[in-house]
Amino acid sequence: MKLSLLIRFCAFAFLLIGSFFLFFSGYPILGATIHFVTLSLWLWGTLRPSSKLFGKIITDNPSPEVLLTFDDGPDPIHTPQVLRILKKHQIQAIFFLIGEKSEQYPDLVQQIYADGHIIGNHTWSHPAKTFWISSPWKTFAEISKTQRILKHLTGVSPLYFRAPVGHSHLFTHPILAHFKMKLMAWNCRGFDTQTSDADLIWKRLKPKINPQAIILLHDTRATSPELTSKIIQFARREKFQFPSL
Ligand SMILES: [Zn+2]
Repeated sequence: MKLSLLIRFCAFAFLLIGSFFLFFSGYPILGATIHFVTLSLWLWGTLRPSSKLFGKIITDNPSPEVLLTFDDGPDPIHTPQVLRILKKHQIQAIFFLIGEKSEQYPDLVQQIYADGHIIGNHTWSHPAKTFWISSPWKTFAEISKTQRILKHLTGVSPLYFRAPVGHSHLFTHPILAHFKMKLMAWNCRGFDTQTSDADLIWKRLKPKINPQAIILLHDTRATSPELTSKIIQFARREKFQFPSL
């Protein structure tokens, strides 16, 4: 564990334990206030996908390129459709794959990799509702099992991790450091898992597309092929670059 991560971990533990001590030692208001502020900070650091409170996170593409990222695959219907569009335009994307789906559809994982895209780790079972309160053991298992299957299928260990719904937590960073992985969020999303209205998603996405955009889409959604094409057409009109295959 890096020293800065250890210091952050110890600071949170000290404040939480200290607030209990104060509460039961005759300083209930001070103890409760420190406890409330510490918990609020912890929640903010956990539930805000771009929060850097617990460690580094990539939120903007460091290269002046529009980066397309696809979460929750591989999907037997929509992943091949998205791959065809990307191949036609010679654009490289990152696919954040779920481990158990990768085990179910190994050919798709290998096709994504063979097409020249980057494969990222998106946990084994995608525990969207509980990942933010997962124990270190559960977090380690979700990440390590997915690393194993993706390395087995492609020969390469993923270098990027994306937390389910962006909810990383205090233990995520030391575990990622162990695997030499970086945490990647996004800065452009259209909430495509909440609606099937492609026009509405496009309206949300378009104003946020810029030369350092990290765009979040899901290759499990029927809207993704159409939106991928729209993003490419728009960005090319605006003379924005993409990573190329
Ligand atoms: Zn996801």
